[in-house]
Amino acid sequence: MTFDLTFDNRFTRDLPADPESRNFTRQVHQAGFSRVKPTPVSAPKWVAGSKEVAELIGLDSKWLGSAELTEVLAGNALADGMDPFAMCYGGHQFGNWAGQLGDGRAINLGEVVTADEKHWTLQLKGAGLTPYSRTADGLAVLRSSVREFLCSEAMHHLGVPTTRALSLVLTGEKVLRDMFYDGHPEHELGAVVCRVAPSFIRFGNFEIFASREDTETLQTLVEHTIRSEFPHLLSGAGPDAEVGPDVIAAMFEEVCRTTAEMVVHWMRVGFVHGVMNTDNMSILGLTIDYGPYGWLEDYDPDWTPNTTDAQGRRYRYAHQPQIAQWNLVALANALVPLVKEAEPLQRGIAVYVEEFQKSWHSMMAGKLGLSKYESETDDELVDSLLTLLQLAETDMTIFYRRLADIELGTQEQPVALELAAVLNHLSEAHYVADEVTEEYQQALMDWMRSYQSRVLADDGFPANDSQRRQRMNAVNPKYVLRNYLAQLAIDACDKGDDSMVSELLDVLRRPYEDQPGKERFAEKRPEWARHRPGCSMLSCSS
Ligand code: AMP
Ligand code: MG
Repeated sequence: MTFDLTFDNRFTRDLPADPESRNFTRQVHQAGFSRVKPTPVSAPKWVAGSKEVAELIGLDSKWLGSAELTEVLAGNALADGMDPFAMCYGGHQFGNWAGQLGDGRAINLGEVVTADEKHWTLQLKGAGLTPYSRTADGLAVLRSSVREFLCSEAMHHLGVPTTRALSLVLTGEKVLRDMFYDGHPEHELGAVVCRVAPSFIRFGNFEIFASREDTETLQTLVEHTIRSEFPHLLSGAGPDAEVGPDVIAAMFEEVCRTTAEMVVHWMRVGFVHGVMNTDNMSILGLTIDYGPYGWLEDYDPDWTPNTTDAQGRRYRYAHQPQIAQWNLVALANALVPLVKEAEPLQRGIAVYVEEFQKSWHSMMAGKLGLSKYESETDDELVDSLLTLLQLAETDMTIFYRRLADIELGTQEQPVALELAAVLNHLSEAHYVADEVTEEYQQALMDWMRSYQSRVLADDGFPANDSQRRQRMNAVNPKYVLRNYLAQLAIDACDKGDDSMVSELLDVLRRPYEDQPGKERFAEKRPEWARHRPGCSMLSCSS
């Protein structure tokens, strides 16, 4: 079968292969990858697919759901031109060097090349054991696969850089998981997601060779990465130009920029990755590896969905910018043997700090409907807002959408803000009525008045409520993949009903639009979901 797809497998062509072809767990040295085939499964069943991703890779959408494609995407067959392999990488997990990790349950099928010369790597997650599976089984369960499938696509439609998901299939196999590591393992449905990205290279791919002082393979990997993913850095010099320290430092600087942009997007939409280990950081600044991620419901900067991280909260929402920087330093350290000096890499880190600050400011200005961020007034305005949001439990997503609806008037005719009217607009965002105390109301009105004067004095835009609303609604989503919604879709799917997965996928295609009839997907978390496993607490078990 070809599915009319053409493969051009640059990674396996450019990197040294592991000479061992048998599939057993081991340390793999001086190799970028090991060839390994997906493990066949008993009863593949199509659950959902993304027509946008099919289009992206030039796959006719008639194949989505077909028996032929289901076989390939469950791991039972290969299409012509595929060259399946697992990557060798390492990583810092929770701040500690963890040695070799690698694709323990991800198998790359190959790189589709499209008519416009773009390369898209197809990767199955949950397709069986690889040399990097360590003590685990190489499999994935339905619940984590639904979450990865939906979130990849939701993030894309929100405008957040991310790996994509082509398909979600059931394998017909049972997978044993101890969801909360509390001695209660259960059989769950096995599933495979086909992920799609220009490349799945992570910070950890570079770290593993640096840690082993294998400068030769490190250089080969860097050359491959720059020629394939950063060819513009060689422009003028031609494709065969030498990849020297300057170009490598330029690549690093670009990774610093794209990583900063990615994290600012996370902060904008209230996304918490949950496991920002360096093996989960894409060299392309894409959100990668959807595990115990979550969405802020009430605005709580200290929140993390990951129960495995509940003690240290290393990967909590507000800490993500610092962690991204920490991870970039780890990548810089891995590149030192090639760049030779620290200074150019330190410059990259400085670019990260600058870029993050700049993007964060313009992002916050955007969320508030301001033409641009003015530190003099807006540092205080934003700080007091973020304090206010924590004074009473407030749904972040609903708050910004409702704030856009509050009429402020014009400089000539300002609206006289009234408590009852303001509360009326914002009450939907409040989780606990009792927390809307007099003190809170006072703080809210104080903030609203400063906000109003700031907006009305904004000379970058005509001060017009409807234009402000439009601008705000273009960056403040109405629909996000709320933790409990994903869980409801999983519960239904577990019982064989995949309709909610499709419905959510559809709603999340247009997250910034009001969608009549779909309002229930924009509601705040119901009380039953506050402490329910899967809704507010997730482990790494997947
Ligand atoms: P993660 O925390 O999901 O990024 O995974 C860290 C490492 O564990 C990676 O090398 C994964 O490939 C590996 N891993 C996670 N789950 C499994 C599994 N079920 N089987 C094999 N390897 C796994
Ligand atoms: Mg990972």
